[in-house]
Amino acid sequence: MSTLTVPRDQLIYAMDRANPPVLRAPSGSTLVFQTRDCFEDQIQDAQAQFTALDWNRINPATGPVHIEGAEPGDALAIEIIDIRVGSQAVMVTGPDLGVEGDRLTEPAVRVYPIDGDHVTVSGVRLPLRPMIGVIGTAPADEPVPNGTPGDHGGNMDTTVIRAGSTLYLPVNVDGALLALGDLHAGMGDGEVSVCGLEVPGEVTLRVTVLKQCRWPLPMVVTDEHLYTIASALTLDEAATRATKHMSAIVQTEAQLSRADAIGLLSAAGNLQISQVVDPLKTCRFELSLDVLRQLNVALPGVPA
Ligand code: CA
Ligand code: CA
Repeated sequence: MSTLTVPRDQLIYAMDRANPPVLRAPSGSTLVFQTRDCFEDQIQDAQAQFTALDWNRINPATGPVHIEGAEPGDALAIEIIDIRVGSQAVMVTGPDLGVEGDRLTEPAVRVYPIDGDHVTVSGVRLPLRPMIGVIGTAPADEPVPNGTPGDHGGNMDTTVIRAGSTLYLPVNVDGALLALGDLHAGMGDGEVSVCGLEVPGEVTLRVTVLKQCRWPLPMVVTDEHLYTIASALTLDEAATRATKHMSAIVQTEAQLSRADAIGLLSAAGNLQISQVVDPLKTCRFELSLDVLRQLNVALPGVPA
């Protein structure tokens, strides 16, 4: 099957069932999404005037793509094959932004050149860890701005959404309407300054429709772990939701009682923070694939 490219001039600012698809792709297609950074590439140097930014052009996502055969109740399995990032990364923080926003008195704009597979931040050389900040499908009802995460995906800012991972997203409307953007050359869990190493780039992925997926989504599978991802107004609520999603999987798929399921998660799982800076906060629950193997639980679309 040929590779289809979604060009970076096809941008949306909300996940919306009314967005016209840029192209249609069969299940099993390999797609290349070209993306602009979360400021739509408006910041090219550290002298850029933060106050002059056009805030209507924040968090663009490239797409959407109509996946043929995807219907409400299905899921998309999105294998992230490769993430290539641009030649420099932008970071911004300031008053009312991020965890120090109550004490910062002026905006700070930083531009860091990417040097091969490293980038130097505040004098410290860091390996690149490319990831996707915004990736989602259209919600069933009201549009969701790309800056907000939710059960449709969106601005999850979750570090495990990286090359080699498979992300599962719900299909809420015919064709799913998959879109993505907001690549980071790296980001720490929490995204505490309000941004990652913001970069334009290109993502190669393969997308497959899974009919009638009953698992709570979004979900990520890496080489070693399964993650449930959940967002909510507070970190407490996001943490509870992510944990209950994993507990529901273990109860349903392994026929464990609620008490035994949560006991197993308490003994063997890890509750983690994805981000604390978006309109909804995001947490994830990590469980090793070895645990699932011992429970004889097969991942959706993956033979046991
Ligand atoms: Ca983001
Ligand atoms: Ca970002």
